[in-house]
Amino acid sequence: MHPFGLSRADDAATAIAAHASDPHLAFIAGGTDLLGLIKDRAALPKHLLDINGLPEMAHIEAGPDGGLRIGALARMSDVAADQAVRRRFPVIAEALLSSASGQLRNMASIGGNLMQRTRCAYFRDEDDVPCNKRRPHSGCSAFDGLNRNHAIFGWSEGCVSTNPSDLAVALAALDAIVVVRGVTGDRAIPFADFHRLPGDTAERDNALGRGDLIIAIEVPASVEGRASHYLKLRDRQSYEFALVSAAAAIAIDGRRIRSVRLALGGVAHKPWRLSAAEASLRGLSLDDSDKLRAAIARSFAEARPLAHNGFKVELAQRVALRALKTAGDRA
Ligand SMILES: Cc1cc2nc3c(=O)[nH]c(=O)nc-3n(C[C@H](O)[C@H](O)[C@H](O)COP(=O)(O)OP(=O)(O)OC[C@H]3O[C@@H](n4cnc5c(N)ncnc54)[C@H](O)[C@@H]3O)c2cc1C
Ligand code: SF4
Repeated sequence: MHPFGLSRADDAATAIAAHASDPHLAFIAGGTDLLGLIKDRAALPKHLLDINGLPEMAHIEAGPDGGLRIGALARMSDVAADQAVRRRFPVIAEALLSSASGQLRNMASIGGNLMQRTRCAYFRDEDDVPCNKRRPHSGCSAFDGLNRNHAIFGWSEGCVSTNPSDLAVALAALDAIVVVRGVTGDRAIPFADFHRLPGDTAERDNALGRGDLIIAIEVPASVEGRASHYLKLRDRQSYEFALVSAAAAIAIDGRRIRSVRLALGGVAHKPWRLSAAEASLRGLSLDDSDKLRAAIARSFAEARPLAHNGFKVELAQRVALRALKTAGDRA
């Protein structure tokens, strides 16, 4: 095991200053991803700064307007069980309950969940095979290797990995905001801009830099939130990362779609919003499956499957349709 020091942060400002000035320091919350990365030697911090004692970062607040503010240190199981979350945004509770295992969800934090790194087996391989995310400019073993679980949208030849977070897919569909505190103060990052595509800098997963601490997630009130659903397909039901997943949130008039938000997981380096499908679905009847299918297909014109994951193109469309219909039945 890689040796590291450990200390506890008492206030956010000191924690942020320490992170900004020391490239070998990492924040630790639940430790459920970071310690695995250290064991796999995919992360080698010299010092861990435990942020679990930071005040007021574990609160879940239901706003009077119908929105939510979820502290970055709230545990996944607490958020999934929260009555306001379940009532206002069932898609969030369902995404969390389909993630990891009960024990992991009791430890794992919301901020850590959004920061977790890809499950690409080459990235996690302790033998340090070529991987641009792990070691920039070393190559991508998955591009010509085993890529069944990898991306069909938005990849580059430098990295074809997918983002493993289920929660992120739900938050992408809900246009959530990530509240980040850095050395120059707070900023609000729209969820679509939080995770990034790999391009030629696969080592960067998201928009954060040194000294950035996620404080909270804000979920704006939305008419679609109550009629929402998360559907996840995986290789085993007990606990496993998504092969493909979909988050759907919908508002209807009678059985006609007034507005809809759709995002996919397991298909790209970031949660993948189906914007073309959302526009085409407006005005369609939830009972006209052929037209719904054709509208969803519009977003798949840009799909680029790899050697072993062509099946995801059809599977993802089916998952999106089922998630949409289930959300519609709740409206
Ligand atoms: C066996 C297993 C199965 C799993 N299955 C799933 C699954 O199906 N779906 C799913 O979504 N997840 C799954 N996970 C991942 C799990 O959800 C994450 O490990 C967990 O959410 C990470 O939270 P944590 O608090 O433990 O983060 P940590 O491990 O403590 O930290 C992870 C990263 O986040 C950073 N960090 C933590 N908090 C902050 C903050 N506030 N601001 C900035 N950076 C921060 C840390 O520095 C670190 O880089 C699984 C994990 C395991 C081990
Ligand atoms: S897909 Fe990304 S994470 Fe996986 S080997 Fe290639 S560069 Fe590394």
